[in-house]
Amino acid sequence: MAAGIRPAHSVHPDRWRVALTIYVVGGVCVGLVCRPLSMWAASSGIRPGVGTFLCVNALMPTLAVVAALYYPRARVATIGAFLSSVCLYLTMRLVQFLDIAQWTIRATIVDVEPVLVAATVGYIILAMITSVAIQPWRVVALPDAHLRCESCGYLLLGLSKPTCPECGSPCKTIPPIPDS
Ligand SMILES: [Zn+2]
Repeated sequence: MAAGIRPAHSVHPDRWRVALTIYVVGGVCVGLVCRPLSMWAASSGIRPGVGTFLCVNALMPTLAVVAALYYPRARVATIGAFLSSVCLYLTMRLVQFLDIAQWTIRATIVDVEPVLVAATVGYIILAMITSVAIQPWRVVALPDAHLRCESCGYLLLGLSKPTCPECGSPCKTIPPIPDS
C-alpha cells in the first residue's frame, strides 16, 4: 500500500518515557543474558565468543529497531540507543565484577572495548534510520494533530480565513467544527 493513502497511526508524544524505558531495560536484559549465553555456547561446543557475538550483533540491533518502531522520533532513538549501549556495558561489567565498591571511574571508562563503541554508533544509526523509515505509517503526534496548525499546534477548528491566527502560517485545510 502506498504511503499517504492511509493516514499514519499517531503515537502519543508522552510515550517517550516508555520508549526510553524500553531502551534502558532492554540493554540491561541483554547484558544479563550475555554471560549465560556465552557459557551455554562454550559448554555446547559452539565457539565461546558466540554468546557475546549474538548479544552485540543480533539482540542489541533488534532492540534498537523495535524501540524505534514503538516511538519513531530520531532524537529519542539517538538518546535511547546510546543509553541501551551504556546499560549493556554496565550490566555486563556488573555481572563480571559484582563488587561495585571496587569500581573506579577511570577503569570503567578504560575497559570500554572499541568494538562496543563502534557497535553503539551502529545502534544509533539503525534506530535513527528505523524511526525515519516508519514515519509514513507511524508518527509521534497528538491524536488530533490533523486539526492543528503544522507550525505551532494551534487548534484550527472553524476558521474563517486559511491562516493560523496564532502564528500566521497558511493552513492547507480548515477543519470544520464537529456537530455536537
Ligand atoms: Zn500556527
